Amino acid sequence: MRFGASETSCRSCQQIYPASDLDRYLWCPNCLKTVRKRGASWARAIGLLGGVAVALYVILAVKPSRLTLLWAVPPLMTYVLISRIAVAVALGYYRARGSVTESSSAAESE
Ligand SMILES: [Zn+2]
Repeated sequence: MRFGASETSCRSCQQIYPASDLDRYLWCPNCLKTVRKRGASWARAIGLLGGVAVALYVILAVKPSRLTLLWAVPPLMTYVLISRIAVAVALGYYRARGSVTESSSAAESE
């Protein structure tokens, strides 16, 4: 006799997967990929904004006497950190909503 523990439905798309394929929030790899992809575009935009802000700060406020490649590090770090945080926030947002499949057609027709 088999118990339902070995197969579980994804919380987002409701498709049945082996329980080992789902993460601890019971999301399937496909839904996770969708969320990451959708979050990543936002994260890139927000990270870029932060990076540009830091670059402007370096140029306008710090006014380095010589603009070397080293001054590209703070904006880049800002971009990487902010976009990572934004991906995590997006992931949390979509998890809290419970599904990525509901509004996917509306979001992808932009
Ligand atoms: Zn799913």
